Amino acid sequence: MKCDKCGKEAVIFQKYSGMHLCAHHEIEDVERKIKKRMRQERMVVPGDHVAVAMSGGKDSAAVLSILVETFGARPDIKFTAITIDEGIEGYRNFSLPKVKELCDRLGVPHFVVSFKDDVGCTLDEMLTHDRKEASCTYCGVFRRTLLNTMAKWIGANKLATGHNLDDDAQTVLLNVMNGDTERLARLRPTRPQEGLVPRIKPLMDVPEREVALYAFLKGLPFYMGECPYARESLRGEIKDMLNDFEARHPGTKYSIMRGFDNMVGCLKEKYPQVPLTKCEICGEPGIKGVCQTCRLKERIKIAGKSPVKEQEKI
Ligand code: SF4
Ligand SMILES: [Zn+2]
Ligand SMILES: [Zn+2]
Repeated sequence: MKCDKCGKEAVIFQKYSGMHLCAHHEIEDVERKIKKRMRQERMVVPGDHVAVAMSGGKDSAAVLSILVETFGARPDIKFTAITIDEGIEGYRNFSLPKVKELCDRLGVPHFVVSFKDDVGCTLDEMLTHDRKEASCTYCGVFRRTLLNTMAKWIGANKLATGHNLDDDAQTVLLNVMNGDTERLARLRPTRPQEGLVPRIKPLMDVPEREVALYAFLKGLPFYMGECPYARESLRGEIKDMLNDFEARHPGTKYSIMRGFDNMVGCLKEKYPQVPLTKCEICGEPGIKGVCQTCRLKERIKIAGKSPVKEQEKI
């Protein structure tokens, strides 16, 4: 197949747009989508210090690369990479060196903090103690809190994540299937919350397979393995279902997000954003009383420690 723009060999057929694209035009198309979204939402502005959450996978590699490529020459904008090491044997130990390689290449400082340092044990160990919650619940809650704590500690005013179109469409469906319309409304915060570093998602308009292709075509170091717990989650099932649907009905993922954006205003009227309160135990922002992180720590009977004292640069 030939590229519809220049006639060179195509590397992808975007079923949703009907376009065959060569490597050059696919990279151009992905970057156009990312830059358009960053501009629309003023994701990065002069004076920003952006913490970038780096897992070592394709998404975080792509997000750090494009941020540095776009703004790296600007002395008024700073980037710092943060990795949370959950302690997942056979997964995180392989992806961490990829983050280090990319950060070294791009000249971006990199900090690592682990569940072992902060929570007291690895995710693998946690799951041998307690299986009342799904693996991704522990992982997601602790990681979210640690990323926020670390971002504040390094003085960042924004936190960039590698969430792509697939991730967001899965999240919308997941909340619909759980009947959690209040959480659905919270997916688009109205204003910054005290104590929470605002998040930006530059890849939110790019399908996952195109992020992977982009990272590959740009020669970025990234780890391709999948978390061994990924298949345990409902999200994993939704991902398969959505990919199957997208193959038969191209554009479904974009349609889900378009539909969500059309109805989120009504959801916000029903569930206005409430100010967060300080957790009675750790002082971090939470919905009420004791935050979810402290509740989970309590459940696995592990005392929390300050992550910032334990952080180390790799
Ligand atoms: S799949 Fe679940 S357990 Fe694995 S890294 Fe993601 S959130 Fe954590
Ligand atoms: Zn082309
Ligand atoms: Zn707490």
